[in-house]
Amino acid sequence: MAAHEAGELHAPGYGGVTAVPSWLRPPTDANELLPTLWPGTAARDLAGVLTVGGVDVATLAGRFGTPAFILDEVDFRGRALAFAEAFSGAFGGLAGAGVHYASKAFTCTGVARWIAEDGLGLDVCSAVELAIGLRGGVPAERITLHGNNKPDGEIRRALEAGIGRIAVDSLAEIDRVADIAGELGVRARVLLRITVGVEAHTHEYVSTAHEDQKFGLSLSGGVADEGIRRVLARPELELRGLHSHIGSQIFDTGGFEVAARRLLTLHARTAIERGYAMPEIDLGGGYGIAYTSAHDPLEPKTLADQMAELMVHECRALGIDVPRVTVEPGRAIAGPSTFTLYRVGTVKDVQLDSGATRRYVSVDGGMSDNIRTALYGADYSCTLASRASSAPAVLSRVVGRHCESGDVVVRDEFLPGDAGHGDLLAVPGTGAYCRSMASNYNQVPRPPVVSVRDRKARVLVRRETEEDLLALDEG
Ligand SMILES: *Cc1c(COP(=O)(O)O)cnc(C)c1O
Repeated sequence: MAAHEAGELHAPGYGGVTAVPSWLRPPTDANELLPTLWPGTAARDLAGVLTVGGVDVATLAGRFGTPAFILDEVDFRGRALAFAEAFSGAFGGLAGAGVHYASKAFTCTGVARWIAEDGLGLDVCSAVELAIGLRGGVPAERITLHGNNKPDGEIRRALEAGIGRIAVDSLAEIDRVADIAGELGVRARVLLRITVGVEAHTHEYVSTAHEDQKFGLSLSGGVADEGIRRVLARPELELRGLHSHIGSQIFDTGGFEVAARRLLTLHARTAIERGYAMPEIDLGGGYGIAYTSAHDPLEPKTLADQMAELMVHECRALGIDVPRVTVEPGRAIAGPSTFTLYRVGTVKDVQLDSGATRRYVSVDGGMSDNIRTALYGADYSCTLASRASSAPAVLSRVVGRHCESGDVVVRDEFLPGDAGHGDLLAVPGTGAYCRSMASNYNQVPRPPVVSVRDRKARVLVRRETEEDLLALDEG
């Protein structure tokens, strides 16, 4: 039970004056777990406590403390496999497809081991992301190195490891990679990252000729053509194909279609004018996930089928064969697998100018473990995790413990009105770009990542300690 019978304008907690964003509906049952938001094995036990992988959150909080990232291994691997199978299925009759998990969403040796075992490839963007991938057993040839400003030492290390692809991001980098490959006596397989002039923003995308951003070689002004010419002129390089990544949290394939058309036009022109048919194409990542009830993501199978359809369509129009396709989901694999478990501290009702009241629910983490709300204005949802409650729902704002008024975790959510000090609160959809973007603001140690499966919990990344932080301080 939650919403007031008279409807949202009269629901308790905001004084009869709406402060509710239009997408947020008062819940009929604030204890309900929306399947699009929660990891596959999440449920409430008979006592109403949130469980995942058969382990309840009170046990997890007792063993590992809060805040903590709780990762559902079955969910994570299930999504990774669903992407791999959907794309190899959809492109099976063509030249095939590969799925690379984007490490930057969240990585650790345990995750890299899953990626290795489940047969996916890996994208990395730094020496340590590469080291973690290799340590987890991902074969070097299944790894791609990305980045707009790769240090020479990292290019060298990647080539020494036998990396599968380097996504070259600028004209200057072409010569740098070629020179280092020459010194090492290897041939570097490269993709050329192209800025296609498609910028995706969730439900819409902007299509432009010129892009004012740091990534890639521009299609306009002949920059991309010049990049292809230079790569083909260096015998130390093998040009595998073109790459584009148009953005993140995308819910339809319209932007990918425009990007693919532009990449394939250049691809076809290269075959005609230079007699060189690139064997592959990389369409990047960016598939959206549900952070709130307002988001409705596509299933991997639907996505893969639509991507295959658009590739076939575009290639037919150009009279070329469909090259091998790579996609690079990060968020869509890691994001929904994980929730953050917090302990509630102070609860405060604040009178707004409009006369409405806003409830501030403070938790023991915040912008140090989830910067996305402050950085991107991202919306999240949350639930009272330590128990079910039938108290009327109150519009609440979940805030952190940091010395910053922008330290918001969940801007708007209906929480049971009796949620208070000592309760556990869970925020779903925090598997991507939360732990990986975590900071030590206010010298707060970063939370652990704990995976659960078959009633067993295992630490993937341990909690930072005061000693860890003081050890960096030379005194
Ligand atoms: C960030 C990134 C991805 C993954 O993006 P998601 O939104 O997490 O799917 C894939 N490819 C490249 C090149 C990226 O920079």
